[in-house]
Amino acid sequence: MRIARFSIDGNVAFGAVEGEPSTPGSTEGLVVDVIKGVPFADFELSGTKVPLDKVRLLPPVLPSKVVAIGRNYAAHAAELGHEVPTAPWAFFKPSTSVIGPGDPIVYPPFSQEVHHEAELAVVIGRLCREVPRERVKDVILGFTCANDVTARDTQQTEKQWARAKGFDSSCPLGPWIETGLDLAAASDLAVTATVNGELRQAGRTNQMINSIEDLIVNITEAMTLLPGDVLLTGTPAGVGPLHPGDEVAVTIEGIGTLTNKVISRG
Ligand code: MG
Repeated sequence: MRIARFSIDGNVAFGAVEGEPSTPGSTEGLVVDVIKGVPFADFELSGTKVPLDKVRLLPPVLPSKVVAIGRNYAAHAAELGHEVPTAPWAFFKPSTSVIGPGDPIVYPPFSQEVHHEAELAVVIGRLCREVPRERVKDVILGFTCANDVTARDTQQTEKQWARAKGFDSSCPLGPWIETGLDLAAASDLAVTATVNGELRQAGRTNQMINSIEDLIVNITEAMTLLPGDVLLTGTPAGVGPLHPGDEVAVTIEGIGTLTNKVISRG
């Protein structure tokens, strides 16, 4: 099931997206069946269906925190001239960095070099801590696309990445949460990024150094994850600059396409 969060006529709801798009990445031909309640508990579909192009898609969750992993693909570490870390290298993106499909990525005032990073995002479904490896599958609600937008120049000059990776609009998520993938399937998906239609990144989640299970065990050793929290699993090679006016699209096989425009500050 594809679970979207959306607004229509000033109301916000979750819904199950049904149908197939008429062209890849479009919402034409899709409808959303409104969910009664929230997807973090047992829920029912209302049977009220709305064309997806009549609603505004929102970020599929409002996470209390986004935990992201640096340098989890060897080819990406190499392209930035870095060694591969010996253990998962986690950092935070704040809740205020999250935007939805179609929302603008706004260039921060302190950067001249903002990069795209296409990533598989894991959406947590239940409160959890110290999750053993065999229980990881039980704490995952589903998967979505993410763009770990990064002020690369700032990342290189500031020791902590809070500003470089935490500025407003630096965490596009969406277009929806796919709940139908098991861990094996999620661990072998094509991940791509295009800018203005030109292919920039093309990798597979099977190139991750630390698996999804490794990462959730590692993070929940340290902290409680809440329903709706999001884990970004690292980016494959091919990161590069975005400029105002660009349109960046992250596509993950079996999930969908997350598209955002880049704008300068107004
Ligand atoms: Mg990243």
